[in-house]
Amino acid sequence: MRTPVMAGNWKMFKTARQAAETIRSLVEAVKGVQGVEVVICPPFTALSAAVDAAKGSLVAIGAQDCYWEKEGAFTGEVAVPMIADLGCGHCIVGHSERRQFFGETDATVDKKVEAVLAHGLTCIACVGETLQEREASQTFAVLERQVRNGLTRHLSSPRLIIAYEPVWAIGTGKTATPAQAQEAHAFIRQVAAQASSAAAAQAVRILYGGSVKPDNVAQLMAQPDVDGGLVGGASLDAVSFAKIVRFRG
Ligand code: PEP
Repeated sequence: MRTPVMAGNWKMFKTARQAAETIRSLVEAVKGVQGVEVVICPPFTALSAAVDAAKGSLVAIGAQDCYWEKEGAFTGEVAVPMIADLGCGHCIVGHSERRQFFGETDATVDKKVEAVLAHGLTCIACVGETLQEREASQTFAVLERQVRNGLTRHLSSPRLIIAYEPVWAIGTGKTATPAQAQEAHAFIRQVAAQASSAAAAQAVRILYGGSVKPDNVAQLMAQPDVDGGLVGGASLDAVSFAKIVRFRG
């Protein structure tokens, strides 16, 4: 039905040379794997080296962010056609670190997702509540707002992937329990059905992110609405990420 996706977000780690070395090791470690899409998102400066190192393998390369205009006077920004030109097939949008530190909003997420999809790339769009929001019983309200305001126009695209990343679980070693992940994923799918269509909601892949590790991935993947992982720390090491890709054992 929904092919699982395991995506690595390398954040601001690894030079071009380090990225190429890790990708080469990962390519070897995931050889023969079937039925899982594998994506690595290095920093912009390592994208080209990563694409070269992954050539001919099942590892796809993506960017961690983009700007929505296709070119122009936007110092420091990177446009989607530039990312596509390097041979990247994916782009993450709306990661909580972009929302928290760089002023990303649901409105900018909407524009960026539109740009990514318009240029033929697959978009991994992130949503998720903070600890404060969860403790204030706002989780569902936050997820509904983020999905409706940022993603409604894009839900019927087969190239949209949603990542549910509870902010309190990112880089903290605290993973949502499989039941918490399933509850949030099912809710996101229900909002997607209301905002778009039942068919779109059934088709969209929803990844879980937040301290996914080789030893917790199988339990998370056993949940019916968990279609993969967006993995930070554990994706930096080829051996550990390969174990996550091989979650079926
Ligand atoms: C992330 O970067 O999106 C993430 C989930 O990080 P970690 O796996 O380290 O919690």
